[in-house]
Amino acid sequence: MAKTMQALVYDRRVDVWESSRGLRREEVEAPTLDESRDHRDAEMVLLETRFAGFCGSDRGIWFRRAFKDMIYDSLDREKKDVRIIGHELFGRVVAVGSRAARDFGLQPGDVTTTESHIICWTCHQCRHGDNHVCVDNKIIGISQDGCFADLVKLPASVLWRVDPRKIRPEVAALQEPFGNAVHACTKVNLRGKTVAIIGCGTIGLFAVLVARALGAHKVIGIEPVARHAEIARELGADAVIVPKLTDVDQFEHDPGLAREVRGITGGVGVDVAMEMSGTNASLNNAIAIVRRGGDVILFGLKSGDAVIEDFDRVIIDGISLHSVVGRRIWETWHITKNLLESRDPNIHDLVYDVILNRGQGTICPFRSFDAASFEKQIQTYPKVVLKFEE
Ligand SMILES: [Zn+2]
Ligand SMILES: [Zn+2]
Repeated sequence: MAKTMQALVYDRRVDVWESSRGLRREEVEAPTLDESRDHRDAEMVLLETRFAGFCGSDRGIWFRRAFKDMIYDSLDREKKDVRIIGHELFGRVVAVGSRAARDFGLQPGDVTTTESHIICWTCHQCRHGDNHVCVDNKIIGISQDGCFADLVKLPASVLWRVDPRKIRPEVAALQEPFGNAVHACTKVNLRGKTVAIIGCGTIGLFAVLVARALGAHKVIGIEPVARHAEIARELGADAVIVPKLTDVDQFEHDPGLAREVRGITGGVGVDVAMEMSGTNASLNNAIAIVRRGGDVILFGLKSGDAVIEDFDRVIIDGISLHSVVGRRIWETWHITKNLLESRDPNIHDLVYDVILNRGQGTICPFRSFDAASFEKQIQTYPKVVLKFEE
């Protein structure tokens, strides 16, 4: 009889996607390593989850707003009905396949986090050094089982070692989303530049810290939710603008916001505008507040069509649009590690003290997970972390 474990799952046998929400804690079969049964286990590692971050994409699954097709298609492929969610991991290695030990030097007791995209390393993009857009990637906790569970089985090739003396575990679990901000902030050179971050949700808040650390001259946070705007200030944004919340279907930019940004940039506009909210209006806000010749970084995600106002301005004013997805593997991870391990500036403590509120209200013990109170937590705090250790 197979060993079992506890996991937070989406179970399509009991929860109809369209008329349900949340995740269930269920007893599921525990993963194992057995190279005699499956030769691919040689490359795999079994980890005990210690802390796991709850991501915006997990929120999308919780409220059934995103990832249905990826979850259903992958469950069909695996001929099962239960998907373990979660991809922001801080875990301890408990078992190592033979090749994972030989090629990666991993051994039981090591602590690691993980890149959430399992890439093939062999497709055209992977061989071009563009493995963050691997054509064959799988996402942990969406298109294969994730880490909201006592144990998770992952390829050694996507694990990233953590030095627990330099990064505390709650912060170590957040390197994957922090890496998104690092990737966005390294797309163009921010040194000496005026940077606006439109949308200070979790990644936008990380971006405030990263942009400052990378030498931005002035960081302007733009965030309609008062609580998040306040956090952006506490993290050191030079100016924070709180515009009114726009309707989801509105696409026009906010002329008042554009005037305000031009006002604090000597009438010029910002050098770099980062769109991190994913609304159509905010895409147009980004284009409206950037200077001639400036850069717009697109990270926020909206499915379907978007309208670009005054499209001629993008060309005539020489505005460059850049899109950012995932993290460059491993370039982004090295920068992430260096930024978090350094205490100058002390991003590490700002993440824990301000974004994680020193653990108050932001840490959810997995053993006492309760869907209703967890939902309140994820709606109150920019980041919530599940704690597995006793
Ligand atoms: Zn994430
Ligand atoms: Zn690939």
